[in-house]
Amino acid sequence: MPRFAEVADGVYVLRYPVLDVNSTLVVGPDEALLVDTLATPAQAAELAAAVRRVTPLPYRVVNTHHHFDHCFGNAVVAGPGAEVWAHEGCADRLAALDDRALAEIAAEFPRLADGILATTVRVPDRTVREETVLDVGGRTVQLVHLGRGHTDDDLVVVVPDAATVVAGDLVEESGPPGFGDAWPLDWPATDAALLEIVEGLVGTATVVPGHGAAVGRDFVKAQHDELARLAWLCRDGHADDRPPEDVAAVAPYGPGVALVAVLRAYADLDGRL
Ligand SMILES: [Zn+2]
Repeated sequence: MPRFAEVADGVYVLRYPVLDVNSTLVVGPDEALLVDTLATPAQAAELAAAVRRVTPLPYRVVNTHHHFDHCFGNAVVAGPGAEVWAHEGCADRLAALDDRALAEIAAEFPRLADGILATTVRVPDRTVREETVLDVGGRTVQLVHLGRGHTDDDLVVVVPDAATVVAGDLVEESGPPGFGDAWPLDWPATDAALLEIVEGLVGTATVVPGHGAAVGRDFVKAQHDELARLAWLCRDGHADDRPPEDVAAVAPYGPGVALVAVLRAYADLDGRL
C-alpha cells in the first residue's frame, strides 16, 4: 500500500508505482489540499486511505492538468462534497469526455483499461484562468497557470511557507517530458516562469514533478535548457524544410520522444494546432 512521505514542512508526496505518478498533500492547521488524484477508482481509494493515515482533516482537491493519471480519481477522493480546482481548460476537457474518449484512453493503457472504463469523471467545479490564492486552513497556497507547456491547462501549486512548488507534468523526473498534447515552442518560456517562482522562494526549494522523485532548482533549470534547445531545433528545422525525423534524430530525449515534439512544433508553426 503506497504511503505519503514528507518532502517539505507539512507537504507530503505519495509516489504511486503505476506510471510513477505523484499525488501531493498540503496539510494546514485545520484543512488540507490534495493535488492530483491518480488514474482509476481503485488507485484513488488507496490514495484516500493514505491521506487518512496522514491527517483526519477535510481536504480540497486540485488537478494539475487534464491527463487521466492526474484526475480520474477525483470522484473517489473528493466525493460529491469537496471542491475540485483546476485550470478552466482542464475542466472543459474533462466535461467533454464521453464514452468514446474513455475507450480511447483505455486502449492506450491496456493494463489500466478496466479501471479507466469504470471511472466516473468528476469535473472540477472551481476554475483558475491565471492565478488564485487559497487559504488552506491558515496556510497560503497559490494556484498559477504559467502558459502553455506540457498541455495548455497546466497549473502549478505554490506553497511559499514550505518553499515548495508542485509542478505537475511541466517537470518530470523519472522519464522524459510528455509531448503528446504539448506546446514545445512555448514550454521553455513557461519553464522559465516556473524557474522564476522557484528562485523567488525563501529557503531551499522543493519541486514535486508529475512523475518521479522530488527535485530542486537545478533540475528545473536543466530541463528548461533542454526544452529551449529542442524548441530552437524545431524552429530552425521548420525554417529549413528539414524532415521532422532528421530534427528528432539530433534532439534531446531520443528520436522517438523528440519526434512527437517536433511534429507538434511543426504543426504549431503551420497553424495546425
Ligand atoms: Zn500529463
